[in-house]
Parts: sequence; structure tokens; C-alpha cells
Amino acid sequence: MKLKQKRYLFSGIISTVLIVLLSVVTIQSFSFFSKETIREQGRMAAELLRISLTEQMLSGVIDQRENLLMRLRAIPGITAVHVVRGDPVNKQFGPGLNSEKPRDEMDRLVLATGKWQERFFTENNEPMYRITIPYIATGTGTLNCLQCHDVPEGTVNGAVTLTFSLDHLKQAEWMSITPIVVLLLIFGLCLAYFLKRLFAPMVATAENLKEVVLEATAGNFSGRIESKTTDEIGEIADSTNLLLETLDQSMGKISSKIQSLGNQTRSFDKNTNLLAHTVNVVEEMVGATRFKQTVENDLNIEEIYSRIKSVVTDHFELTNFSFYEVTDNERALNSIFVGGLKNPADLWCDPDIMVNAEACRCKRTAADVSSIDHDNICPRFAGNSKDMGKMVHVCMPMMLSGHIGGILQLVMSEEGAKSRPGIEQMAQIYLNQAAPVIEARQLMQSLKETAMRDPMTGLYNRRFLEDYIDSMLAGLVRQKASMGILMCDVDFFKKVNDDYGHDVGDEVIKGLSNILAKAVRDADLAIRYGGEEFILLLPHTDEDGAMLLAERIRAELDDFTFQTPMGPLKKTLSIGVSMFPDDGEGFWECVKYSDIALYKAKEGGRNKVLRFHKDMWLDQDEY
Ligand code: GH3
Ligand code: MG
Ligand code: MG
Repeated sequence: MKLKQKRYLFSGIISTVLIVLLSVVTIQSFSFFSKETIREQGRMAAELLRISLTEQMLSGVIDQRENLLMRLRAIPGITAVHVVRGDPVNKQFGPGLNSEKPRDEMDRLVLATGKWQERFFTENNEPMYRITIPYIATGTGTLNCLQCHDVPEGTVNGAVTLTFSLDHLKQAEWMSITPIVVLLLIFGLCLAYFLKRLFAPMVATAENLKEVVLEATAGNFSGRIESKTTDEIGEIADSTNLLLETLDQSMGKISSKIQSLGNQTRSFDKNTNLLAHTVNVVEEMVGATRFKQTVENDLNIEEIYSRIKSVVTDHFELTNFSFYEVTDNERALNSIFVGGLKNPADLWCDPDIMVNAEACRCKRTAADVSSIDHDNICPRFAGNSKDMGKMVHVCMPMMLSGHIGGILQLVMSEEGAKSRPGIEQMAQIYLNQAAPVIEARQLMQSLKETAMRDPMTGLYNRRFLEDYIDSMLAGLVRQKASMGILMCDVDFFKKVNDDYGHDVGDEVIKGLSNILAKAVRDADLAIRYGGEEFILLLPHTDEDGAMLLAERIRAELDDFTFQTPMGPLKKTLSIGVSMFPDDGEGFWECVKYSDIALYKAKEGGRNKVLRFHKDMWLDQDEY
């Protein structure tokens, strides 16, 4: 209930209670007083009647009794008068008139007990009072009953009854109550007025307070309360104003700082709840910090990209999006993930951006590109040609120390964008968290790549094999698959160096590397194991497959002619083949077996492929 209503209710209740209480008390006391008065009057009138009747009796004019009674009945207020005879009188003088017989219980009670009786009652809605007093025979004084009545003293000879109407008292009652009620009504109005004056500043302050608090809840702290009094209500207004002032300044600072955190370019519309938005951003930042802790433990960039995708799908609950990696010295884009399109190869943008990164406005400007505020800002956005209704997009760059490493694109309906104010700011926070980790991983990857690749041929080197073989084998062992190991060595290579020089030797090694790299599948590994020694690992390959490939490589080199400045050059290759884990439980053990087979191939005349078998191992001393 509102304070204003309470004020009316309060004064209304007080006035009503007072009116009712005072009316009841007045009616009660008036009624008590009236009853006492009428009782006295009744008794006195009854006594007077009794005496008058006795006098008539003594004077011998009792026959005029009816006249007396009639005159009495004519008095306003007296409604009935009657006299009844007792049994002793009937016995002595015979039964009297019919009207002199006892009429009711009250008559009989008075005749029997000799005690007067009275009664208040209502007849035809009219309040009445009746009193009945006895005639008691006395033998002393001026009224000696025993002169005529042959009865002992104290006998009840009869009774006199008088009945009065109290209607006039009722009117008097109303007359006395009405001014009280009127006075109380005036009092009630005065009270209401006084309370209104008293409550007015309280009500105004409370309503004012409600308004500014509602505005503050909606993020607007600029409202102030008008201080109307100097009492506690005024103090509440002043303290609230101080609080609002402090919040206004602090929230202003926090909001602007937070907006700058996410590289926000889209300005908030005036209905945006800055407080709720700031709380959201802080929550996002906490979430983003946790996100960073998680991605820091991710092994590779692909895992980090898939976490960015999860943030978009699970956290922002978006279905339409894309993420591009900037590649090829910032000249091209590589689509990492796309959501919301039927065909997995489809993009939300013109595919041209894939080969020409500068066509992408976000890549070109290194800034957020949002069609929420600027319709058709980027002509490469193709979302509105997908028959999905009007779509807007926000593209934001993922900056990696001075250059753009990726672009996150969020695509939404216009309503979707409205219901997610500042989403690009939130997404940017996540990108900012992921960026340094991605950069560190890229650096690590390129360092590793350098350390693990042979610079001359571009093939992996022995160190790579040593570092990665365990993780490679784990899957193989789990799947119980076998792997072919081909140890290759150029025959009489020294001779090339000797006859043609080291440069030509180098060219032969490079040419052979090309032949080997092309001969194997993507899943296979070609490694430069030593000077002109190469090892080929063929996972998920059986013995026949391994032998077939080895033979093909050998034959290819046999047919191949190296063109050197000194003329054409032919070389051959010997290959030793072993199978893991068929030949031995340990990988390095199997490598050794392939080496033994290679040795045997050399021994057997070179330009050969030899499959390792146990007998070769028996000749190891020789080896
Ligand atoms: P075999 O048939 O027994 O293998 O005879 P080979 O002459 O090939 O003997 P071996 O494999 O032992 O000799 C390898 C030679 O390859 C030794 C080394 O001088 C040469 N070599 C190693 N690495 C390079 C390189 O990067 N460039 C050049 N030009 N020569 C290299
Ligand atoms: Mg050799
Ligand atoms: Mg060699």
C-alpha cells in the first residue's frame, strides 16, 4: 500500500474508531441515565396513583376511579394504566371488573410477592417501560386499609401498573449524539489535513526516492532527490543524493574504462543499462581470464581455435559466425570455422577474401567492422544473399603484436544484435585473451619447425623423430596397426662428391628428397636421417605395401637422371625394410633391423630392396 493511501486509511480509521467509541459511550450513558430517570418517574407516578386511588376509596368516590385512570392515560408518554385486585379483596367484596383481573405474570408476581416489578421492552418498535407496584394493607397512619379490608396487615390487596413510552427519549438520544458525531467528523477532517501536512514531505521524498532508485537500477545515476525538510526525511534525501553522486562518478569512470578495454566502437543507445552492461563485462572478463588459463594449457593452436568457437556457440549462443586465420604473409585468409551455413564450404563473405586478404575490410583497417550501426559497411559481406532475412555482422580483428592474426565474424539478425548489446566488446575480450597464447604457440611452432627440419631438403630431421615418435606410436599401438620402416641410403655417394664436387652432391640429395617426399602419402613421414640416408615411416601399412613402395622408390631413382653442370648423373638407392611391431616390440629396435637389412642390401650388390628377417640378425657380428 502506498504511503499516501496509508495516510488516508490511518486518519479514516482513527476518526471512525473515535466516532464509534464516543457514540457507543454516549448512547450507553444516555440510555443508563434515561432508564434511571424513567424508573424514578415511574415509581413516583405509580406511588401517586396508588395514593390517589386509596384516597378515592377512603373518600367513597372509588367509582370515579376509571375517570382518574383515563386522565392518566391521556398524559403524553403514559401508554397504559391498569389496576388489579388481589384474591383477599375478591374474597371479601366478590370478583371485581374484568379489567381488574391480573393480566400477566408480572401482575401475578407482584400480587404473590408484594414486591414491585419493572420491565423495559419494545412494542411495535417503540421502546417502553412498565412498572407494577403492590397495594399492601397497612393498619397505621392516615391510610388505614384495615378499616375496610378484613385482612391482616401486610396482605397484598392489589397492584397498580403504569406503562410509559420511551420514544421521546430515543429522539433526545439522537439529538445528543448528532452534535458529537458532527464534531468528531470535523475532528477527523482536521486530523486528515494535519496528517497530510505531516506526511507530504515524507510521501514526496519516498516517491522521489523510488523514481531515482528505479533509474539507478536501470544504470542512470543522474537523478537527485529534492530535500524538503531538515528532519530525518531530509537527511535521507541528502544521503541518497550523496550516494548517487558517488555512484554516478564511479560508474562513469568504470564504464568508460571498460568500454575502452574491448576496443568498443559501437556507441550504446541511450536505453542501454550501463550498470548491467558493466556487470556483464566484468563477468565476461572473469570468464575470459578463466578462458585464458584454459587456453594456456592447450597444446596447439587448433585447440585454441576450437575454444574460441565454443565461446561463440555455447557462451554467446550464436549459430552464425566465422573465424579466419591470416596466412601467407598476411596476403590470404584461411577459414578455420564457419557456423550457420548448410554447405561446409560456404562462407558468410565473398570467397574472394580467401585469396586476397586486403579485400576484407576488417583485415585492411585492423578495426572492428560492424553493420549494426552502418548498413552495408562491407561489400564483401554476403550474409544477406543467403535467404535468411536481414543479417548484420560484426567482424573484429585478433591482433598479434602489430599484425592481424585472425578475424572473428559474428552474424546475427537485427533483433539478435539488439538483444546482445556490446557482444562485440565481450567477444573482443576473449580474442584479446587468446591472442598472446596463439602468438606464443605460433612462435613455438615455428621455432620447433626450424629446429626439426633439415634446412637443405625441408624434410624432418632425426631430432623430430626422437621427439615425436612416442606420440606417433601411441595411436598406432592402440589401433594395433603396423608401420613400415624403410631405411634408404644412396649407393656410392662419396663418389659423387669426389667426381663432381659437394655442390652437385647437395643437389643429388635435394633431388632424392623430392622423389621421396612425393612418393609417400600425407600420413607417412620422410626423414633425413643422416648425410644421404633417409628413413621413411609408413604407418598403417603392411609388409606387402611397404615392400611395394620401397621397390617403386628404388626403381624410380634407378630410372631417374640428375642433370648436373657436368652432365647427366645416374644414382641408385639401397633400401632395408622392417615392420613395427611385427619385427620387434621397440621402435628403435625395428629401426636397427631396417638398418641391418640395408647393410645386407649393400652387401648383396646395392640398388636393392631387402626385407629384414631374423637370419640377418644372426649375422650381426659381421654387420
Ligand atoms: P655406400 O654405397 O656404402 O653407401 O657408399 P657411400 O659412398 O655412399 O658411403 P657412405 O654412405 O658411408 O658415405 C656417405 C657420404 O656422403 C659421406 C659424406 O661425405 C657424404 N655426405 C654426407 N652428407 C652430405 C651432404 O650434405 N652433402 C654432400 N655433398 N655430401 C654429404
Ligand atoms: Mg651411401
Ligand atoms: Mg650413407
